Amino acid sequence: MNFENYNFKNKRAIVRVDFNVPLDNNGVITDDTRIKMAIPTITKIINDGGSVILMSHLGRPDNEPNPKFSLQQILPNLEALLNQKVIFCDDCISEKAVRTTSKLKSGDVVLLENLRFYKEEKLGNKDFAMKLSKHGDVFINDAFGTAHRAHASTAIIADFFPNDKMFGFLIENEIKSVDKVLNSQNYPLTAIVGGAKVSSKITIILKLLEKVDHLIIGGGMAYTFIKAQNGSIGKSLVEDEFLKLALEILDEAKKQNVQLHLPIDSLCSKEFSNDSETYLRPIFSIPDNEMGLDIGSETIKIFSDVITNSSLILWNGPMGVFEMSNFQKGTISVANAIVKATKNNAFSLVGGGDSVAAINLFNLANKVSHVSTGGGAMLEYLEGKELPGIKSIKNS
Ligand code: AMP
Repeated sequence: MNFENYNFKNKRAIVRVDFNVPLDNNGVITDDTRIKMAIPTITKIINDGGSVILMSHLGRPDNEPNPKFSLQQILPNLEALLNQKVIFCDDCISEKAVRTTSKLKSGDVVLLENLRFYKEEKLGNKDFAMKLSKHGDVFINDAFGTAHRAHASTAIIADFFPNDKMFGFLIENEIKSVDKVLNSQNYPLTAIVGGAKVSSKITIILKLLEKVDHLIIGGGMAYTFIKAQNGSIGKSLVEDEFLKLALEILDEAKKQNVQLHLPIDSLCSKEFSNDSETYLRPIFSIPDNEMGLDIGSETIKIFSDVITNSSLILWNGPMGVFEMSNFQKGTISVANAIVKATKNNAFSLVGGGDSVAAINLFNLANKVSHVSTGGGAMLEYLEGKELPGIKSIKNS
């Protein structure tokens, strides 16, 4: 069923959105990208003359109501973006909430309280999903960030709408963009993988080797590859239990004809701090009392060169501790190289919480082809897994 062509006149649409936004200690939203990206779907339903019931999770409450994780905190932001009042229900399945959503007028928007105040949400409980389904005549999944979870609101609820379920604009776009990378015949295809740990990205690295021409590995995870080749990495991040696998990946890259690029130099420091002095070191000889916190200047040149000469680019994970200004340069440079390639008609897909945070921090989000809202979901989709939130809609 196609969202764009569906007429929502006099329909109540229950929409699973991903409003799991970062909040500071005062409950103020620090990045509202996810809310902004849900707006076109909500607006389309309102413009058709329908009403909208929004449901989401926020953070990790312990399966019980907790004001720290209340979605009420995002209400002012949502109202400002929609330019209209939004009705808030302080519980997602209470009789009061069902009463509220049963008498909505055309154009009304309701926000339900955090789904994860109930343990049944993550358990994918059928009864809980049924109670949620009472709010709407039609179900829209527009939460790509949780599409890889078989939760009550992301997958199970779809069973209660056998003929009236569909993706919203956001998920449709996400799928289109990832499919473009998966199915494109445009080469060279370069994947840039960074972030803290090899362990969390191992499956995707192995999958990418089957697909890409260049694989760039930066960030904390690179040091495991350097140590595996007998480099001295000082106090840098390392996962000793992955040393053997790192060597196997290097081997596999050769077999698959993939050019694997690791850093050749590193910006180091004695402390994990923005205030201590920095030293540029060859990556294989970092002194024992230092740790690598960003890629070095020579590496930046090599990585940028590979990226600007690519036609398809996939980026997941920062090149260093970009949260500290002294160790941002590697990540900024990679982002700029991606922007440059995009200007030259490359298709660039940026996904994964921290690369998205980085690209937003540098104000470059609108200069790449697509910024994915789903880190884990995007990776699992790229790995070729069937995501429960997508499967439940497609199985009509
Ligand atoms: P991930 O969630 O695995 O993508 O990792 C992102 C985190 O990795 C960010 O918070 C970065 O600060 C961190 N990171 C990147 N490079 C390094 C490094 N060289 N040493 C320690 N942490 C790093």
